[in-house]
Amino acid sequence: MSLGEELLQLEEKLAALYEECERLRQAAASLEEKKNLLSQQLAAEQELKPLNRIYDEGFHICHAYFTKERAGECLFCLALLKGSAAARE
Ligand SMILES: [Zn+2]
Repeated sequence: MSLGEELLQLEEKLAALYEECERLRQAAASLEEKKNLLSQQLAAEQELKPLNRIYDEGFHICHAYFTKERAGECLFCLALLKGSAAARE
């Protein structure tokens, strides 16, 4: 094999490696994006939990009667809980 041919082969290998490197960089970026999205969803879920708990303990979470004691189901509260859950989907 002549030096010229050898050099050509090395350049081709190098080009393939650069391509692979770029592909991996893009894969890493898309994973990073996915991770950020998941942590945002998790944060939103954890934010919602206290409201669920307050409601379950028998208090209003709706704007009209916030933290007042609840007798039975409150449609405003339920709409709020349902709305928050739907907004995340
Ligand atoms: Zn209510």
